[in-house]
Amino acid sequence: MDKKMLKDGMEMIDAHFKEEGLSRRDAIKMFGVGGAAVLMGSGVATEAKASSSAAKAKIVIIGGGLAGMSTAARLTNSLDNPDITVIEPGEISTSYQPGQTLVGGGVWDKSELVYKTDDFVPDGVTLIKEKAVEFDPENNSVKTSGGKTVKYDYMIIAAGLKLDFSRIKGLGIEETITSTSDHSPVSKAVGKNGITSIYYQQGSEDTWKEMQKFIAEAKSGKKVKGIFTHPNTPIKCGGAPKKIMYLTDARLREAGARDNADLTFYPNGSKMFGVKEYHDAIVNQFEARNMKWNYRHNLIAVDPEKKVATFMRHWNEKGPWDEDLEEYSIVPKSETVEKEFDFIHITPPMVAAEEIGKSPVGSSKGWVPVHKETLQHIKYPNVFALGDIAAVPMGKTGGSARKQYKVVVDNIISMMEGKELTAKYGGYTVCPLITSLSTVMLAEFDWSKKPTPSFPLDPTQERYIWWLLKVYALKPMTQYGMLSGRA
Ligand SMILES: Cc1cc2nc3c(=O)[nH]c(=O)nc-3n(C[C@H](O)[C@H](O)[C@H](O)COP(=O)(O)OP(=O)(O)OC[C@H]3O[C@@H](n4cnc5c(N)ncnc54)[C@H](O)[C@@H]3O)c2cc1C
Repeated sequence: MDKKMLKDGMEMIDAHFKEEGLSRRDAIKMFGVGGAAVLMGSGVATEAKASSSAAKAKIVIIGGGLAGMSTAARLTNSLDNPDITVIEPGEISTSYQPGQTLVGGGVWDKSELVYKTDDFVPDGVTLIKEKAVEFDPENNSVKTSGGKTVKYDYMIIAAGLKLDFSRIKGLGIEETITSTSDHSPVSKAVGKNGITSIYYQQGSEDTWKEMQKFIAEAKSGKKVKGIFTHPNTPIKCGGAPKKIMYLTDARLREAGARDNADLTFYPNGSKMFGVKEYHDAIVNQFEARNMKWNYRHNLIAVDPEKKVATFMRHWNEKGPWDEDLEEYSIVPKSETVEKEFDFIHITPPMVAAEEIGKSPVGSSKGWVPVHKETLQHIKYPNVFALGDIAAVPMGKTGGSARKQYKVVVDNIISMMEGKELTAKYGGYTVCPLITSLSTVMLAEFDWSKKPTPSFPLDPTQERYIWWLLKVYALKPMTQYGMLSGRA
């Protein structure tokens, strides 16, 4: 996105906020973005340090993606004598993953997402371009893939999550990848033959190519089937599996070919969204677009030749009367079902990296267990975790990380100064649910599982203003605001 495009986008946003009786400055404040300079036209945030601490400690951060590098930047801004090391193997780890949905829908080019890790390493921070492979929290040390031993006073784990396509039989994929790592283990089966996934960077470009072929088939008069999946594991950006379906719908309409396509969503769960108000809104949006859905379907296999997807359909039935509990028992049932497709969007199962999930700092489920408000490790007080790898019950999104990284920084500095931990993560997360090529529903919520809109507007409505926010504003807010530790 060049400067002119950003300027034009900002002007459109201003005009729309004005219609709602808001200025951009007010709106950005409402959105909780401290470094409002980012969107005030200056490009790079120029705020002075909010506060500075003279406390000293050696801090190591595992993972230099969005959460890790933003935390490194904010610590650098907040400490007089920072001593920070980031361990991150990836060359493009800070890339803008939320834009992958827009690339998949043909709105952006892949080149607009790619940020080099080196460009976002804060001054004075040491970057070790290796993986952390062995954790010894009893002795405050971690080993890297290159054999280095790194000692620390505080460790922050921000290693994101891995995409595990190997759990889907028939694809022949054995390795896990991250959204920005080498995609070759996956690309041999995904990104061709109508099999797609926007969850990794190259996959998003391939999705758009395959989507165009699907639309061309529909346009030629063929009756085609598109299916969209959501697995049985926690995933990052729970809205993305639906966003790419809305974009497919919109592109088919644009081509005048929607009537020839049957689009069905197969989520493992039994709701569209965990917050009732957003669930209801999505059901209405699906019905209005003739987009179908079938709950409780977990994708377990794909036959790329025959273009058949196999799901485990699961449900509960009423069993015999339980004398002790004085109620009917519940009997879980399941069966496999096969569905033909011309185009499938796979949201892969997602897991924590094995070297972390199965280490002493991991949990039985593989994520890093932390107190959900302070983000401090439940066993090791000098260890914190945030972002997608943290075992926090609320959304794995950049929006959550934007709230969490400030909590982690405040709490670590409090500990360094011998004070109580007072900063708390309130469970805030945000899903800008793209519903067409010009509308977004901005679904914000927190621990209360109720809508918590930042703006005085009905949050269940799809709006053009949020499309403008998604397409023009959120990327610079992330790039110049969050990754500089200020917003
Ligand atoms: C298609 C898609 C759409 C999305 N849409 C949105 C959206 O609209 N809004 C939103 O807020 N969020 C969205 N997200 C989610 C958002 O991008 C993530 O939640 C965010 O990037 C999480 O940041 P993180 O730092 O935890 O993980 P990441 O940014 O993935 O970074 C983790 C880093 O840890 C590194 N790492 C892994 N293992 C190790 C190890 N052993 N040692 C050292 N380093 C390691 C990895 O190389 C990686 O660079 C979307 C994501 C995708 C894929």
